[in-house]
Amino acid sequence: MIFDSHVHTEFSTDSKLKLEEALKTAGDLGIGIISTDHIDLNYPEKDKFIFDIDEYFNKYYKYRSDKYFLGVEIGMTDEFSKENRNISEKYDFDYIIGSIHFVDGIDIFDKELYKDRDKKYVYERYFQNMIECIKTHEYINSLAHIDYICRYASYKNTEINYNEYSDLIDEVLRLIVSREIAFEINLRRLSNMAAVENLIPIYKRYKEIGGSLVTIGSDSHNSESIGLNLKAAFYIAEKCKLKPVYYKNRKPEYF
Ligand SMILES: [Zn+2]
Ligand SMILES: [Zn+2]
Repeated sequence: MIFDSHVHTEFSTDSKLKLEEALKTAGDLGIGIISTDHIDLNYPEKDKFIFDIDEYFNKYYKYRSDKYFLGVEIGMTDEFSKENRNISEKYDFDYIIGSIHFVDGIDIFDKELYKDRDKKYVYERYFQNMIECIKTHEYINSLAHIDYICRYASYKNTEINYNEYSDLIDEVLRLIVSREIAFEINLRRLSNMAAVENLIPIYKRYKEIGGSLVTIGSDSHNSESIGLNLKAAFYIAEKCKLKPVYYKNRKPEYF
């Protein structure tokens, strides 16, 4: 079964989506989903982007089936690497996504990050932060949205050109391959063909380095975007000869 493995429900600070609604939409589409609510312990505002994990399991575990699993999206940060690890060990998540949402402590969503800093510098720091954090969060199942910064950067062209950052990207890819971490194809930007074409060399390189597993996730915060752009993700996977999987009990399952 095809899985959308990146869905934010109301346990995420930035989502109001009810799990029941998400399950209904996924059912109509004939796909499975994994809820992956946000934990970003380094978020500067108190009590935001964290949630009560016990309540999450209490509320959602009864829905767990062969079409729905319980996951989490952990914002990777060196500052809280110990706490993040404790969360990963304490709870029976089926799936853990590791994400970079901050560069040197500044939210990638925040325009401040791009003010007076050129693209090359900020993108290099983005990948360097990613490299350091994968090393301290090696238990994650999949590395999320490598193109996350392209959504919010305030440069004329926000795409990642593989050739410009090949050394750093190769290091990211070698790390995830050696730790058996899957590589997410995030659906959010895939309605844009330029985005797809810029991502293909990165996923091809992942394959060359020895990677094979990709997860597919919409990063939905509402029901309308669940499963959106799935076709483009399969196009990337096929073109790069990668195998889509989802995770159950922290283990990959083929579609
Ligand atoms: Zn994210
Ligand atoms: Zn997300």
